[in-house]
Amino acid sequence: MLNITFHWKLSQIPERGVKKHCKMCGKLSVFTDTNVRRHNANGKSIYQYAIYKCEKNHTWNKKLAVYKTFSEHVPEIEEQKEETSIVSAIPITSLVEQGLKVIHIVLDDVIGKHRIDKVLANQIEDWSRTQIIDKIEKGAIQLNEQVIKPSSRLSKGERISIFID
Ligand SMILES: [Zn+2]
Repeated sequence: MLNITFHWKLSQIPERGVKKHCKMCGKLSVFTDTNVRRHNANGKSIYQYAIYKCEKNHTWNKKLAVYKTFSEHVPEIEEQKEETSIVSAIPITSLVEQGLKVIHIVLDDVIGKHRIDKVLANQIEDWSRTQIIDKIEKGAIQLNEQVIKPSSRLSKGERISIFID
Protein backbone atom coordinates (compact mmCIF):
# COMPACT_ATOMS: atom_id res chain seq x y z
CA MET A 1 0.00 0.00 0.00
CA LEU A 2 1.41 3.34 -1.02
CA ASN A 3 1.85 5.72 1.84
CA ILE A 4 3.77 8.85 2.71
CA THR A 5 4.86 10.35 6.01
CA PHE A 6 5.12 14.06 6.80
CA HIS A 7 6.83 15.47 9.85
CA TRP A 8 5.30 18.52 11.48
CA LYS A 9 6.29 20.86 14.25
CA LEU A 10 3.41 22.85 15.57
CA SER A 11 4.09 25.97 17.55
CA GLN A 12 1.93 28.50 19.26
CA ILE A 13 -0.38 30.16 16.79
CA PRO A 14 1.04 33.67 16.59
CA GLU A 15 -1.11 36.45 17.86
CA ARG A 16 -2.24 38.70 15.08
CA GLY A 17 -1.78 42.00 16.81
CA VAL A 18 -1.08 43.16 20.31
CA LYS A 19 -2.30 46.54 21.51
CA LYS A 20 0.41 48.16 23.54
CA HIS A 21 1.62 51.62 24.37
CA CYS A 22 4.47 52.53 22.02
CA LYS A 23 7.02 54.77 23.70
CA MET A 24 8.26 56.09 20.37
CA CYS A 25 4.80 56.88 19.02
CA GLY A 26 3.61 58.08 22.42
CA LYS A 27 0.29 56.33 21.97
CA LEU A 28 -1.45 52.98 21.97
CA SER A 29 -0.33 51.10 18.86
CA VAL A 30 -0.99 47.72 17.37
CA PHE A 31 2.14 45.59 17.33
CA THR A 32 2.36 42.66 14.98
CA ASP A 33 4.61 39.65 15.19
CA THR A 34 7.38 39.76 12.58
CA ASN A 35 7.99 36.02 13.22
CA VAL A 36 11.61 36.86 13.89
CA ARG A 37 12.94 35.29 17.06
CA ARG A 38 16.09 36.10 18.89
CA HIS A 39 17.92 34.70 21.84
CA ASN A 40 19.89 36.74 24.32
CA ALA A 41 22.19 35.14 26.82
CA ASN A 42 22.29 36.92 30.15
CA GLY A 43 24.39 35.26 32.82
CA LYS A 44 23.06 31.77 33.25
CA SER A 45 19.82 32.42 31.44
CA ILE A 46 18.87 32.55 27.83
CA TYR A 47 15.95 34.75 26.92
CA GLN A 48 13.90 34.10 23.87
CA TYR A 49 12.12 37.06 22.33
CA ALA A 50 9.63 37.56 19.58
CA ILE A 51 10.17 40.75 17.65
CA TYR A 52 7.03 42.78 17.23
CA LYS A 53 6.67 45.99 15.28
CA CYS A 54 4.17 48.82 15.58
CA GLU A 55 2.56 50.46 12.56
CA LYS A 56 5.45 52.93 12.43
CA ASN A 57 8.00 50.10 12.53
CA HIS A 58 9.16 50.59 16.10
CA THR A 59 10.27 47.31 17.59
CA TRP A 60 9.18 45.67 20.78
CA ASN A 61 10.84 42.51 21.99
CA LYS A 62 8.23 40.33 23.59
CA LYS A 63 9.74 37.88 26.01
CA LEU A 64 8.62 34.35 25.17
CA ALA A 65 10.72 32.10 27.32
CA VAL A 66 13.67 31.92 29.63
CA TYR A 67 15.99 28.97 29.55
CA LYS A 68 18.66 28.17 32.09
CA THR A 69 22.00 27.19 30.68
CA PHE A 70 22.94 23.82 32.09
CA SER A 71 26.70 24.13 32.23
CA GLU A 72 29.24 26.84 32.81
CA HIS A 73 29.99 26.66 29.19
CA VAL A 74 27.46 28.87 27.51
CA PRO A 75 26.85 27.62 24.00
CA GLU A 76 26.94 30.09 21.21
CA ILE A 77 23.47 31.36 20.54
CA GLU A 78 22.44 31.56 16.98
CA GLU A 79 19.95 34.08 15.88
CA GLN A 80 17.03 32.18 14.51
CA LYS A 81 14.79 33.54 11.87
CA GLU A 82 11.70 31.44 11.76
CA GLU A 83 10.42 29.50 14.69
CA THR A 84 6.78 29.44 13.88
CA SER A 85 5.06 26.30 12.74
CA ILE A 86 7.19 24.16 10.49
CA VAL A 87 4.34 22.63 8.63
CA SER A 88 4.15 21.77 4.99
CA ALA A 89 0.82 22.11 3.30
CA ILE A 90 -0.46 18.79 2.06
CA PRO A 91 -1.36 18.73 -1.64
CA ILE A 92 -4.02 16.11 -1.08
CA THR A 93 -5.48 16.05 -4.59
CA SER A 94 -2.15 15.40 -6.27
CA LEU A 95 -1.20 12.78 -3.68
CA VAL A 96 -4.47 10.97 -4.35
CA GLU A 97 -3.78 11.19 -8.10
CA GLN A 98 -0.40 9.58 -7.48
CA GLY A 99 -2.22 6.63 -5.96
CA LEU A 100 -1.42 7.21 -2.31
CA LYS A 101 -3.69 5.35 0.07
CA VAL A 102 -2.46 6.47 3.47
CA ILE A 103 -0.92 9.76 4.55
CA HIS A 104 0.81 9.82 7.91
CA ILE A 105 1.73 12.98 9.77
CA VAL A 106 4.16 12.54 12.64
CA LEU A 107 4.14 15.37 15.16
CA ASP A 108 7.77 15.92 16.01
CA ASP A 109 6.90 18.78 18.29
CA VAL A 110 3.73 20.44 19.52
CA ILE A 111 3.73 23.68 21.48
CA GLY A 112 0.44 25.13 22.58
CA LYS A 113 -3.06 23.84 22.03
CA HIS A 114 -4.00 22.58 18.60
CA ARG A 115 -7.26 20.92 17.58
CA ILE A 116 -6.84 18.26 14.92
CA ASP A 117 -9.70 19.54 12.74
CA LYS A 118 -8.39 23.12 12.70
CA VAL A 119 -4.80 22.14 12.01
CA LEU A 120 -5.78 19.87 9.13
CA ALA A 121 -8.21 22.43 7.70
CA ASN A 122 -5.37 24.95 7.65
CA GLN A 123 -2.91 22.61 5.99
CA ILE A 124 -5.07 20.72 3.54
CA GLU A 125 -6.25 23.34 1.16
CA ASP A 126 -8.29 20.98 -0.99
CA TRP A 127 -10.52 19.90 1.89
CA SER A 128 -12.87 22.14 3.82
CA ARG A 129 -13.16 21.99 7.60
CA THR A 130 -16.58 20.35 7.18
CA GLN A 131 -15.10 17.60 5.00
CA ILE A 132 -12.32 17.07 7.51
CA ILE A 133 -14.75 16.83 10.43
CA ASP A 134 -16.78 14.30 8.43
CA LYS A 135 -13.69 12.19 7.74
CA ILE A 136 -12.64 12.29 11.40
CA GLU A 137 -16.10 11.17 12.49
CA LYS A 138 -16.10 8.34 9.93
CA GLY A 139 -12.66 7.18 11.06
CA ALA A 140 -10.96 8.05 7.76
CA ILE A 141 -8.70 10.36 9.74
CA GLN A 142 -7.27 8.77 12.85
CA LEU A 143 -4.88 9.69 15.63
CA ASN A 144 -2.52 6.96 16.81
CA GLU A 145 -4.62 4.37 14.95
CA GLN A 146 -7.71 5.37 16.88
CA VAL A 147 -10.95 7.04 15.94
CA ILE A 148 -11.02 10.40 17.67
CA LYS A 149 -13.22 13.48 17.95
CA PRO A 150 -12.69 16.51 15.69
CA SER A 151 -11.98 18.55 18.81
CA SER A 152 -9.17 16.23 19.94
CA ARG A 153 -5.98 18.04 20.80
CA LEU A 154 -2.64 17.10 19.36
CA SER A 155 0.46 16.27 21.37
CA LYS A 156 4.10 15.70 20.60
CA GLY A 157 4.92 12.25 19.29
CA GLU A 158 1.44 11.48 18.03
CA ARG A 159 0.67 10.30 14.54
CA ILE A 160 -2.21 11.37 12.36
CA SER A 161 -3.26 8.95 9.62
CA ILE A 162 -5.42 9.95 6.69
CA PHE A 163 -6.94 7.03 4.78
CA ILE A 164 -7.91 7.71 1.21
CA ASP A 165 -10.85 5.66 0.01
ZN1 LIG B 1 5.62 53.15 17.43
